[in-house]
Amino acid sequence: MKLKDQVAIVTGASSGIGAGTSLELARAGATVVVNYPFEAAKNAAEAVVSQIKSEGGNAVSYQCDVSKEAEVVKMFGDTVSQFGTVDILVNNAGLQKDSAFTEMSLDTWNFVLSVNLNGQFLCAREAVKEFLRRGVQPEKSVAAGKIICMSSVHEVIPWSGHANYAASKGGIMMMMKTIAQEFAPKKIRINSIAPGAIQTPINKSAWGTPEGMKNLMRLIPYKRIGEPSDIGKAVVWLASDDSDYVNGTTLFIDGGMTLYPGFEDNG
Ligand code: NAD
Repeated sequence: MKLKDQVAIVTGASSGIGAGTSLELARAGATVVVNYPFEAAKNAAEAVVSQIKSEGGNAVSYQCDVSKEAEVVKMFGDTVSQFGTVDILVNNAGLQKDSAFTEMSLDTWNFVLSVNLNGQFLCAREAVKEFLRRGVQPEKSVAAGKIICMSSVHEVIPWSGHANYAASKGGIMMMMKTIAQEFAPKKIRINSIAPGAIQTPINKSAWGTPEGMKNLMRLIPYKRIGEPSDIGKAVVWLASDDSDYVNGTTLFIDGGMTLYPGFEDNG
């Protein structure tokens, strides 16, 4: 129970990595705010809350579109009103809207950037304000607060046909490092996780058929697709005092996808 008495907001938590991470945080003792963006995702968010409660944990669901400033400010305000503070932010919400570069409309570009990058900026800003207001409470954690940004291997691997997505993840890397530098003296830790291929709805086209899965394995030296719990367990570590000297870094959790797998058999 390394996160006992701590409050975590997990964005985009009604599916995939966010759902898996919410379960792991609750198992470590955190109270979890399971964020979802719109009415249609409410039942899925409630199912995550129910599973947490059935295991004896504490969670609530909360609707908020992270690309909307007023909604993000309200989510943090309501969480502080209900639970007293926020200790951990998992900046996870993200999406893809793929397009050949020359066909990509400004709307398509802006849509992905507004959720993946603006959303992480807005949530991180509100989290840091709350961490500064509250300061360190040594009975809970030696840090004043922790942020884990969900990046991607595409913060370093270019990705044809996905310029908006790759740009958003590259942007997350420099935002994360910059604010980690800015707020380290205030005992706030900010890190990223860069998943490789994790089996979730976002990339079903890549793993949904035997042929797709076979192609995917060519990119993964460890020869298995990742599970949301692979990420969730690392989030718990990054949110706990066990990682207290880790700040401003990206943890790649990718089965070796960033190891240039094209060179596996002599290139
Ligand atoms: P997912 O589609 O299951 O999860 C994304 C979640 O974000 C969904 O629950 C969705 O409802 C939510 N969301 C979308 N727009 C939102 C908004 N405006 N406000 C709040 N929530 C919103 O896919 P996932 O794989 O679990 O993705 C989670 C994160 O992990 C994303 O940032 C994604 O880029 C990143 N990621 C995933 C993989 C992978 O292989 N699955 C790899 C690298 C990075």
